Amino acid sequence: MTETASSSSTTAHPAGSSSALPIRQERGERQAFCGLSGIVWLHRKMQDSFFLVVGSRTCAHMMQSAAGVMIFAEPRFGTALLQDRDLAGLADANDELDRVVRELLARRPDIGTLFLVATCPSEVIKLDLDTAAARLQQSHNGRVRILAYSGSGLDTSFTQGEDTCLQALVPHLPELPAMERSLLVVGSLADVVEDQFKRLFDKLGIGPLHFLPPRRAADLPPVGPGTFLIAAQPFVGETIDALRERGAHLIAAPFPLGIQGTRAWLHAVAAAWGVAPELVDEVIAAPAARAETALARYREQLSGKRVSFLPDSQLEIPLGRFLARECGMQLGELGVPYLDRRLMEPELALLPANTRLTEGQDLEPQLERLRAERPDITVCGLGLANPLEAEGLTTKWAIELVFTPIQGFDQAADLAELFARPLNRRQRLGF
Ligand code: SF4
Repeated sequence: MTETASSSSTTAHPAGSSSALPIRQERGERQAFCGLSGIVWLHRKMQDSFFLVVGSRTCAHMMQSAAGVMIFAEPRFGTALLQDRDLAGLADANDELDRVVRELLARRPDIGTLFLVATCPSEVIKLDLDTAAARLQQSHNGRVRILAYSGSGLDTSFTQGEDTCLQALVPHLPELPAMERSLLVVGSLADVVEDQFKRLFDKLGIGPLHFLPPRRAADLPPVGPGTFLIAAQPFVGETIDALRERGAHLIAAPFPLGIQGTRAWLHAVAAAWGVAPELVDEVIAAPAARAETALARYREQLSGKRVSFLPDSQLEIPLGRFLARECGMQLGELGVPYLDRRLMEPELALLPANTRLTEGQDLEPQLERLRAERPDITVCGLGLANPLEAEGLTTKWAIELVFTPIQGFDQAADLAELFARPLNRRQRLGF
Protein backbone atom coordinates (compact mmCIF):
# COMPACT_ATOMS: atom_id res chain seq x y z
CA MET A 1 0.00 0.00 0.00
CA THR A 2 1.18 3.52 -0.68
CA GLU A 3 0.47 6.45 1.54
CA THR A 4 1.03 10.07 0.67
CA ALA A 5 1.85 12.94 2.97
CA SER A 6 3.29 16.36 2.20
CA SER A 7 6.88 15.85 1.17
CA SER A 8 9.82 17.19 3.20
CA SER A 9 13.34 16.28 4.26
CA THR A 10 15.63 17.45 7.05
CA THR A 11 18.92 16.28 8.53
CA ALA A 12 19.25 15.81 12.26
CA HIS A 13 21.64 14.37 14.79
CA PRO A 14 19.97 12.06 17.28
CA ALA A 15 19.35 13.91 20.53
CA GLY A 16 21.18 12.38 23.48
CA SER A 17 22.50 9.64 21.21
CA SER A 18 25.86 7.96 21.60
CA SER A 19 25.98 7.76 17.80
CA ALA A 20 27.16 10.81 15.88
CA LEU A 21 25.57 9.61 12.62
CA PRO A 22 23.64 12.33 10.83
CA ILE A 23 20.08 11.14 10.17
CA ARG A 24 18.12 12.39 7.20
CA GLN A 25 14.42 12.63 7.99
CA GLU A 26 11.92 12.41 5.17
CA ARG A 27 8.18 12.66 4.89
CA GLY A 28 6.14 12.04 1.79
CA GLU A 29 4.83 9.20 -0.30
CA ARG A 30 5.83 5.88 1.20
CA GLN A 31 5.43 2.35 0.08
CA ALA A 32 5.28 -0.44 2.62
CA PHE A 33 2.87 -3.14 3.74
CA CYS A 34 0.49 -2.26 6.57
CA GLY A 35 0.56 -4.03 9.96
CA LEU A 36 -1.84 -6.76 8.78
CA SER A 37 1.25 -8.48 7.36
CA GLY A 38 2.28 -9.53 10.89
CA ILE A 39 -0.53 -12.10 10.81
CA VAL A 40 1.51 -14.03 8.23
CA TRP A 41 4.07 -15.09 10.83
CA LEU A 42 2.07 -14.59 14.07
CA HIS A 43 -0.59 -17.16 13.11
CA ARG A 44 2.15 -19.72 12.56
CA LYS A 45 3.80 -18.88 15.86
CA MET A 46 0.78 -19.03 18.19
CA GLN A 47 -0.77 -22.32 17.19
CA ASP A 48 -4.02 -21.92 19.18
CA SER A 49 -4.80 -18.43 17.86
CA PHE A 50 -7.03 -17.13 15.09
CA PHE A 51 -6.80 -13.70 13.48
CA LEU A 52 -10.05 -12.23 12.23
CA VAL A 53 -9.35 -9.21 10.04
CA VAL A 54 -12.32 -6.84 10.21
CA GLY A 55 -11.90 -5.09 6.91
CA SER A 56 -12.70 -4.74 3.24
CA ARG A 57 -11.89 -6.87 0.21
CA THR A 58 -8.70 -4.82 -0.19
CA CYS A 59 -7.51 -6.12 3.20
CA ALA A 60 -8.45 -9.70 2.24
CA HIS A 61 -6.50 -9.38 -1.02
CA MET A 62 -3.53 -7.87 0.77
CA MET A 63 -3.49 -10.82 3.22
CA GLN A 64 -3.75 -13.23 0.33
CA SER A 65 -0.77 -11.74 -1.50
CA ALA A 66 1.34 -11.31 1.66
CA ALA A 67 0.57 -14.85 2.82
CA GLY A 68 0.94 -16.29 -0.67
CA VAL A 69 0.42 -20.00 -0.87
CA MET A 70 -0.53 -20.37 2.78
CA ILE A 71 -4.04 -19.18 1.95
CA PHE A 72 -4.66 -22.63 0.48
CA ALA A 73 -3.72 -24.40 3.70
CA GLU A 74 -6.16 -24.73 6.61
CA PRO A 75 -5.94 -21.08 7.62
CA ARG A 76 -5.97 -19.58 11.06
CA PHE A 77 -6.83 -16.17 9.76
CA GLY A 78 -9.79 -14.84 7.87
CA THR A 79 -11.60 -11.64 7.01
CA ALA A 80 -14.94 -10.43 8.31
CA LEU A 81 -15.85 -8.37 5.25
CA LEU A 82 -17.28 -4.93 5.74
CA GLN A 83 -19.74 -4.48 2.87
CA ASP A 84 -20.57 -1.21 1.15
CA ARG A 85 -23.63 -0.84 3.41
CA ASP A 86 -21.40 -1.03 6.50
CA LEU A 87 -18.95 1.49 5.09
CA ALA A 88 -21.80 3.87 4.25
CA GLY A 89 -22.85 3.72 7.90
CA LEU A 90 -26.22 2.17 7.04
CA ALA A 91 -25.78 -1.14 8.83
CA ASP A 92 -24.82 -2.07 12.35
CA ALA A 93 -21.49 -3.74 11.67
CA ASN A 94 -21.43 -4.95 15.30
CA ASP A 95 -24.37 -7.32 14.67
CA GLU A 96 -22.61 -8.70 11.63
CA LEU A 97 -19.34 -9.09 13.55
CA ASP A 98 -21.10 -10.93 16.39
CA ARG A 99 -22.66 -13.32 13.86
CA VAL A 100 -19.32 -14.01 12.12
CA VAL A 101 -17.56 -14.64 15.46
CA ARG A 102 -20.38 -16.91 16.66
CA GLU A 103 -20.21 -19.00 13.49
CA LEU A 104 -16.42 -19.09 13.51
CA LEU A 105 -16.20 -20.28 17.12
CA ALA A 106 -18.89 -22.92 16.52
CA ARG A 107 -16.98 -24.20 13.49
CA ARG A 108 -13.52 -24.01 15.08
CA PRO A 109 -13.61 -25.20 18.72
CA ASP A 110 -9.78 -25.43 18.60
CA ILE A 111 -9.43 -21.62 18.75
CA GLY A 112 -8.03 -20.59 22.14
CA THR A 113 -7.35 -16.92 21.46
CA LEU A 114 -9.21 -14.88 18.88
CA PHE A 115 -7.68 -11.61 17.73
CA LEU A 116 -10.02 -9.07 16.12
CA VAL A 117 -7.72 -7.07 13.86
CA ALA A 118 -8.70 -3.48 13.05
CA THR A 119 -8.06 -2.11 9.56
CA CYS A 120 -8.34 1.24 7.79
CA PRO A 121 -12.01 0.61 6.86
CA SER A 122 -13.02 -0.46 10.39
CA GLU A 123 -11.27 2.59 11.82
CA VAL A 124 -12.82 4.95 9.29
CA ILE A 125 -16.34 3.85 10.25
CA LYS A 126 -15.24 3.96 13.90
CA LEU A 127 -16.06 0.34 14.66
CA ASP A 128 -14.71 0.01 18.22
CA LEU A 129 -13.09 -3.44 18.28
CA ASP A 130 -11.85 -3.15 21.88
CA THR A 131 -15.45 -2.81 23.05
CA ALA A 132 -16.54 -5.53 20.64
CA ALA A 133 -13.85 -7.89 22.00
CA ALA A 134 -15.00 -7.29 25.60
CA ARG A 135 -18.65 -7.84 24.61
CA LEU A 136 -17.88 -11.01 22.68
CA GLN A 137 -15.63 -12.34 25.43
CA GLN A 138 -18.54 -12.05 27.86
CA SER A 139 -21.08 -13.60 25.54
CA HIS A 140 -18.83 -16.60 24.92
CA ASN A 141 -18.51 -17.21 28.66
CA GLY A 142 -14.74 -17.00 28.72
CA ARG A 143 -14.42 -20.14 26.52
CA VAL A 144 -11.94 -18.25 24.36
CA ARG A 145 -9.83 -15.19 25.00
CA ILE A 146 -10.93 -12.44 22.60
CA LEU A 147 -8.60 -9.47 22.08
CA ALA A 148 -8.39 -6.60 19.61
CA TYR A 149 -5.47 -4.77 18.06
CA SER A 150 -4.80 -2.56 15.08
CA GLY A 151 -3.11 -3.68 11.86
CA SER A 152 -4.48 -0.67 10.02
CA GLY A 153 -2.29 1.12 7.51
CA LEU A 154 -3.35 4.38 9.22
CA ASP A 155 -1.63 3.34 12.46
CA THR A 156 0.94 0.73 11.59
CA SER A 157 3.50 -0.16 8.99
CA PHE A 158 4.45 -3.76 8.19
CA THR A 159 6.17 -5.24 11.26
CA GLN A 160 4.49 -2.79 13.67
CA GLY A 161 1.45 -5.11 13.50
CA GLU A 162 3.38 -7.58 15.68
CA ASP A 163 4.05 -4.81 18.18
CA THR A 164 0.35 -3.86 18.47
CA CYS A 165 -0.61 -7.56 18.74
CA LEU A 166 1.89 -8.29 21.54
CA GLN A 167 0.93 -5.07 23.30
CA ALA A 168 -2.68 -6.32 23.42
CA LEU A 169 -1.44 -9.44 25.25
CA VAL A 170 0.55 -7.57 27.92
CA PRO A 171 -2.38 -6.72 30.30
CA HIS A 172 -3.27 -10.44 30.30
CA LEU A 173 0.18 -11.73 31.31
CA PRO A 174 0.13 -13.31 34.79
CA GLU A 175 2.09 -11.62 37.58
CA LEU A 176 5.58 -13.00 38.26
CA PRO A 177 5.69 -13.87 42.00
CA ALA A 178 7.62 -11.38 44.16
CA MET A 179 11.30 -12.25 44.74
CA GLU A 180 11.42 -14.41 41.58
CA ARG A 181 13.27 -13.46 38.45
CA SER A 182 12.95 -14.55 34.86
CA LEU A 183 14.17 -13.67 31.39
CA LEU A 184 11.64 -12.71 28.73
CA VAL A 185 12.69 -12.65 25.07
CA VAL A 186 10.38 -10.29 23.17
CA GLY A 187 9.64 -10.58 19.45
CA SER A 188 8.73 -13.65 17.44
CA LEU A 189 11.48 -16.11 16.58
CA ALA A 190 11.28 -19.37 14.66
CA ASP A 191 10.87 -22.35 17.01
CA VAL A 192 14.25 -23.75 15.92
CA VAL A 193 15.96 -20.47 16.90
CA GLU A 194 14.16 -20.37 20.26
CA ASP A 195 15.36 -23.91 20.97
CA GLN A 196 18.97 -22.98 20.15
CA PHE A 197 18.83 -19.93 22.46
CA LYS A 198 17.17 -21.98 25.18
CA ARG A 199 20.03 -24.50 25.09
CA LEU A 200 22.62 -21.69 25.38
CA PHE A 201 20.77 -19.97 28.26
CA ASP A 202 20.43 -23.33 30.03
CA LYS A 203 24.20 -23.84 29.83
CA LEU A 204 24.69 -20.34 31.25
CA GLY A 205 22.29 -21.09 34.12
CA ILE A 206 19.94 -18.32 33.00
CA GLY A 207 16.26 -18.99 33.54
CA PRO A 208 13.35 -19.45 33.84
CA LEU A 209 13.23 -18.34 30.23
CA HIS A 210 10.05 -17.25 28.43
CA PHE A 211 9.22 -15.99 24.97
CA LEU A 212 6.64 -13.43 23.85
CA PRO A 213 4.80 -14.38 21.68
CA PRO A 214 4.58 -17.88 23.18
CA ARG A 215 3.98 -20.95 21.00
CA ARG A 216 0.45 -21.16 22.39
CA ALA A 217 -1.36 -17.93 23.11
CA ALA A 218 -2.88 -19.66 26.16
CA ASP A 219 0.60 -20.08 27.73
CA LEU A 220 1.26 -16.43 28.47
CA PRO A 221 4.58 -15.75 30.25
CA PRO A 222 4.58 -14.07 33.67
CA VAL A 223 5.90 -10.52 34.10
CA GLY A 224 6.82 -8.36 37.08
CA PRO A 225 9.65 -6.42 38.72
CA GLY A 226 11.84 -9.55 38.60
CA THR A 227 11.56 -9.80 34.79
CA PHE A 228 14.53 -8.98 32.57
CA LEU A 229 13.55 -8.15 29.00
CA ILE A 230 15.67 -8.65 25.91
CA ALA A 231 14.34 -7.70 22.48
CA ALA A 232 14.85 -10.28 19.72
CA GLN A 233 13.24 -8.05 17.09
CA PRO A 234 13.65 -4.32 16.54
CA PHE A 235 9.93 -3.61 16.07
CA VAL A 236 8.59 -4.32 19.56
CA GLY A 237 9.18 -0.92 21.22
CA GLU A 238 5.58 -0.30 22.38
CA THR A 239 5.36 -3.82 23.84
CA ILE A 240 8.63 -3.24 25.70
CA ASP A 241 7.20 0.01 27.12
CA ALA A 242 4.03 -1.79 28.27
CA LEU A 243 6.13 -4.52 29.92
CA ARG A 244 8.29 -1.92 31.65
CA GLU A 245 5.14 -0.33 33.04
CA ARG A 246 4.56 -3.71 34.71
CA GLY A 247 7.96 -3.44 36.37
CA ALA A 248 10.18 -5.34 33.92
CA HIS A 249 13.75 -4.17 33.13
CA LEU A 250 15.07 -3.80 29.60
CA ILE A 251 18.55 -5.12 28.78
CA ALA A 252 20.12 -2.92 26.08
CA ALA A 253 21.92 -4.91 23.38
CA PRO A 254 22.43 -5.20 19.64
CA PHE A 255 20.10 -7.70 17.95
CA PRO A 256 21.12 -11.36 17.58
CA LEU A 257 21.85 -11.15 13.85
CA GLY A 258 25.22 -12.47 12.72
CA ILE A 259 28.00 -13.79 14.91
CA GLN A 260 28.92 -10.44 16.44
CA GLY A 261 25.30 -9.46 17.13
CA THR A 262 24.47 -12.83 18.72
CA ARG A 263 27.62 -12.75 20.84
CA ALA A 264 26.89 -9.20 22.09
CA TRP A 265 23.22 -10.09 22.74
CA LEU A 266 24.14 -13.11 24.88
CA HIS A 267 26.87 -11.21 26.72
CA ALA A 268 24.42 -8.41 27.56
CA VAL A 269 21.92 -10.87 29.06
CA ALA A 270 24.66 -12.69 30.97
CA ALA A 271 25.99 -9.40 32.41
CA ALA A 272 22.49 -8.43 33.61
CA TRP A 273 22.07 -11.90 35.16
CA GLY A 274 25.47 -11.80 36.87
CA VAL A 275 27.11 -14.53 34.75
CA ALA A 276 30.86 -14.21 34.15
CA PRO A 277 31.82 -13.22 30.57
CA GLU A 278 34.43 -16.02 30.53
CA LEU A 279 31.65 -18.61 30.91
CA VAL A 280 29.75 -17.02 28.02
CA ASP A 281 32.85 -17.21 25.81
CA GLU A 282 33.32 -20.86 26.76
CA VAL A 283 29.67 -21.79 26.08
CA ILE A 284 29.49 -20.04 22.71
CA ALA A 285 32.95 -21.06 21.48
CA ALA A 286 31.78 -24.08 19.45
CA PRO A 287 28.67 -22.55 17.77
CA ALA A 288 30.55 -19.30 17.06
CA ALA A 289 33.44 -21.21 15.46
CA ARG A 290 31.00 -23.24 13.34
CA ALA A 291 29.33 -20.04 12.24
CA GLU A 292 32.69 -18.43 11.33
CA THR A 293 33.54 -21.35 9.06
CA ALA A 294 30.11 -21.36 7.40
CA LEU A 295 30.10 -17.59 6.91
CA ALA A 296 33.57 -17.42 5.32
CA ARG A 297 32.49 -18.54 1.85
CA TYR A 298 29.68 -15.96 1.69
CA ARG A 299 31.99 -13.22 2.94
CA GLU A 300 34.15 -13.91 -0.08
CA GLN A 301 31.17 -13.46 -2.40
CA LEU A 302 29.71 -10.41 -0.69
CA SER A 303 32.82 -8.46 0.25
CA GLY A 304 33.05 -5.12 -1.56
CA LYS A 305 29.49 -5.35 -2.95
CA ARG A 306 27.22 -2.36 -2.32
CA VAL A 307 23.85 -2.78 -0.58
CA SER A 308 21.06 -0.21 -0.06
CA PHE A 309 17.91 -0.51 2.02
CA LEU A 310 14.55 1.09 1.34
CA PRO A 311 12.53 1.56 4.55
CA ASP A 312 10.32 -1.45 5.20
CA SER A 313 10.77 -3.99 8.00
CA GLN A 314 12.71 -2.15 10.77
CA LEU A 315 15.41 -4.81 10.43
CA GLU A 316 17.45 -2.51 8.17
CA ILE A 317 19.90 -1.22 10.81
CA PRO A 318 20.94 -4.58 12.34
CA LEU A 319 21.07 -6.13 8.86
CA GLY A 320 23.22 -3.26 7.57
CA ARG A 321 25.51 -3.61 10.57
CA PHE A 322 25.89 -7.37 9.92
CA LEU A 323 26.52 -6.97 6.19
CA ALA A 324 29.08 -4.20 6.73
CA ARG A 325 30.97 -5.64 9.69
CA GLU A 326 30.81 -9.37 9.03
CA CYS A 327 30.43 -9.64 5.26
CA GLY A 328 32.56 -6.68 4.16
CA MET A 329 29.73 -5.07 2.17
CA GLN A 330 29.57 -1.33 1.56
CA LEU A 331 26.42 0.37 2.78
CA GLY A 332 24.63 2.74 0.47
CA GLU A 333 21.58 4.58 1.78
CA LEU A 334 20.09 2.80 4.79
CA GLY A 335 16.40 3.68 5.05
CA VAL A 336 14.25 2.86 8.09
CA PRO A 337 10.49 3.48 8.45
CA TYR A 338 11.05 5.00 11.91
CA LEU A 339 13.99 5.09 14.28
CA ASP A 340 13.19 3.65 17.71
CA ARG A 341 16.14 4.88 19.75
CA ARG A 342 15.01 2.95 22.85
CA LEU A 343 16.01 -0.26 21.10
CA MET A 344 18.37 0.88 18.38
CA GLU A 345 21.03 2.83 20.28
CA PRO A 346 23.45 -0.13 20.69
CA GLU A 347 23.11 -0.87 16.95
CA LEU A 348 23.73 2.74 15.84
CA ALA A 349 27.05 2.69 17.63
CA LEU A 350 28.15 -0.29 15.49
CA LEU A 351 27.35 1.16 12.06
CA PRO A 352 30.24 2.43 9.92
CA ALA A 353 30.91 6.13 10.54
CA ASN A 354 29.93 7.14 6.99
CA THR A 355 26.52 5.38 6.99
CA ARG A 356 23.79 7.43 5.33
CA LEU A 357 20.74 6.82 7.46
CA THR A 358 17.27 7.98 6.37
CA GLU A 359 14.23 7.88 8.65
CA GLY A 360 10.81 7.89 6.97
CA GLN A 361 10.30 8.02 3.24
CA ASP A 362 9.67 10.33 0.34
CA LEU A 363 9.50 7.65 -2.32
CA GLU A 364 10.29 9.33 -5.63
CA PRO A 365 13.39 11.30 -4.50
CA GLN A 366 14.62 8.18 -2.70
CA LEU A 367 14.20 6.10 -5.85
CA GLU A 368 16.06 8.77 -7.84
CA ARG A 369 19.00 8.53 -5.40
CA LEU A 370 18.90 4.74 -5.73
CA ARG A 371 18.91 4.91 -9.55
CA ALA A 372 21.86 7.29 -9.44
CA GLU A 373 23.81 4.95 -7.14
CA ARG A 374 22.77 1.61 -8.65
CA PRO A 375 23.88 -0.57 -5.71
CA ASP A 376 24.66 -4.24 -6.33
CA ILE A 377 21.62 -5.22 -4.25
CA THR A 378 18.61 -3.33 -2.88
CA VAL A 379 16.48 -4.58 0.01
CA CYS A 380 12.89 -3.40 -0.45
CA GLY A 381 9.21 -4.31 -0.25
CA LEU A 382 7.45 -6.62 -2.69
CA GLY A 383 5.73 -3.74 -4.46
CA LEU A 384 9.00 -2.12 -5.47
CA ALA A 385 11.08 -5.22 -6.21
CA ASN A 386 9.67 -6.08 -9.62
CA PRO A 387 9.82 -2.55 -11.10
CA LEU A 388 13.40 -2.19 -9.81
CA GLU A 389 14.38 -5.59 -11.25
CA ALA A 390 12.93 -4.41 -14.58
CA GLU A 391 15.32 -1.46 -14.37
CA GLY A 392 18.22 -3.89 -14.01
CA LEU A 393 18.65 -3.59 -10.23
CA THR A 394 19.04 -6.72 -8.09
CA THR A 395 16.61 -6.82 -5.19
CA LYS A 396 15.89 -8.77 -2.03
CA TRP A 397 12.39 -8.87 -0.53
CA ALA A 398 12.37 -7.45 2.99
CA ILE A 399 9.42 -9.68 3.99
CA GLU A 400 11.53 -12.80 3.36
CA LEU A 401 13.94 -11.62 6.04
CA VAL A 402 11.13 -11.34 8.57
CA PHE A 403 9.81 -14.87 8.36
CA THR A 404 13.01 -16.77 7.62
CA PRO A 405 14.98 -17.98 10.67
CA ILE A 406 17.98 -15.62 10.60
CA GLN A 407 18.87 -15.04 14.27
CA GLY A 408 21.62 -16.78 16.18
CA PHE A 409 24.98 -18.40 15.38
CA ASP A 410 23.63 -21.30 13.35
CA GLN A 411 21.71 -18.99 11.04
CA ALA A 412 24.48 -16.41 10.40
CA ALA A 413 25.62 -18.09 7.18
CA ASP A 414 22.01 -18.62 6.05
CA LEU A 415 21.46 -14.90 6.49
CA ALA A 416 24.49 -14.05 4.35
CA GLU A 417 23.33 -16.58 1.77
CA LEU A 418 20.02 -14.75 1.42
CA PHE A 419 22.01 -11.81 0.02
CA ALA A 420 24.50 -13.86 -1.98
CA ARG A 421 21.78 -15.84 -3.79
CA PRO A 422 20.22 -13.01 -5.87
CA LEU A 423 23.71 -11.72 -6.75
CA ASN A 424 24.76 -15.18 -7.94
CA ARG A 425 21.57 -15.59 -9.92
CA ARG A 426 22.11 -12.30 -11.75
CA GLN A 427 25.72 -13.24 -12.42
CA ARG A 428 24.72 -16.61 -13.85
CA LEU A 429 22.11 -14.95 -16.04
CA GLY A 430 24.92 -12.75 -17.32
CA PHE A 431 23.34 -9.35 -16.47
FE1 SF4 B 1 -5.01 -1.47 2.85
FE2 SF4 B 1 -5.62 -0.39 5.22
FE3 SF4 B 1 -6.58 -2.83 4.60
FE4 SF4 B 1 -3.95 -2.49 5.10
S1 SF4 B 1 -5.63 -2.20 6.56
S2 SF4 B 1 -4.84 -3.65 3.39
S3 SF4 B 1 -3.58 -0.44 4.26
S4 SF4 B 1 -7.07 -0.89 3.56
